[in-house]
Amino acid sequence: MADPYLRVENLVKQFGPFTALGGVDLAVYPGEVHALLGDNGAGKSTLIKTLAGVHQPTSGQIYIEGKPVSFRSPRDASAAGIGTVYQDLALNQLMSITRNFFMGRELKGPLGTLRMDEMNQIAHDEMLKIGIDFSDPTQAVGTMSGGQRQTLAIARAIYFGAKVLILDEPTSALGQKQQMGVLKTVKRVKARGDIAIIFITHNEIHSRLIGDRYTFLALGKVIGAGTSDQIGPEEMRRLMAGGAEMGDLEKELANV
Ligand code: ADP
Ligand code: MG
Repeated sequence: MADPYLRVENLVKQFGPFTALGGVDLAVYPGEVHALLGDNGAGKSTLIKTLAGVHQPTSGQIYIEGKPVSFRSPRDASAAGIGTVYQDLALNQLMSITRNFFMGRELKGPLGTLRMDEMNQIAHDEMLKIGIDFSDPTQAVGTMSGGQRQTLAIARAIYFGAKVLILDEPTSALGQKQQMGVLKTVKRVKARGDIAIIFITHNEIHSRLIGDRYTFLALGKVIGAGTSDQIGPEEMRRLMAGGAEMGDLEKELANV
C-alpha cells in the first residue's frame, strides 16, 4: 500500500480546561476516501480545523509525506496541500462562478487587468472534469444548486493544489438527488488517484457508498477505525451510536 499523504499522531486539542481532542490518530491515503464519523460534539470539526491550520494543536504531531509539519495559519496548511471545503462553502452568491472560483487568486495581465476569458475557461473546464458542465461561468453562484456549489468549491480547492481534500458534511444540507451528485463528484476526484479525501458525514449509507476507510470519533477520541472490509454494517451502527449497544439504549428508555 502507498504511504499516507497525511498522518496525525496523538493529536490533543484543549480549549482552556476542555479537551476537544484527546489523542487522535489518523492516516489518509491518495486515491482513498476516508470517512470521518461521529455524533455532534465528537470533535470532527476541531480535528479538521487543526489540520487546516485554523487551530494549533495542544500536543501531538501532523506529518505530510512522513515529514513533521506545523501550521501557524490556514495559509501554511493550504501551501502544504490541505484544501478544506467548509459547510458554508465561503461563496459569494451575487458574484459569478468564475469570480468565486478565483476569489483572491485572480489571474492578472501586466497592467493589473483581470484575464477574464482565461479564468472563465479554467473555471468551466475544472468543474467539467468532476461532473458539472456549466456552460456559462459568468452566471452568479446564486443560480447554482446546492450540489453544484459543492462541486465548485471542490474544483477550486483541487485547482489550487489540494492533495488532501477535506469535505465537512458536504451532503448534509442537500436533497437526495443533489446528494448523489456530490457523491459522483467525490468519486471522480478519488478516481484521479493522487488526492486523499476526508469526508465528514453523519450518513451511514454515504459512508458505505463512497468510503474506503472509516474513523469514528466520540468525545474527542477514536472509538473505532478500519477499512470498509473490516467494519461491517452492525459494527458501523454501534460506532455511530458512540459505541453504545442497542441494548444500552433500550435500557436508558425503559425507565421513563
Ligand atoms: P463536531 O464537529 O464533531 O460536532 P466540534 O469539533 O465542533 O464537534 O466540537 C467538539 C467539542 O469541542 C464540543 O464540545 C465543542 O463545544 C467544543 N469546541 C469546539 N470549538 C471550540 C472552541 N473554539 N472553544 C471551546 N470549545 C470548543
Ligand atoms: Mg462539526
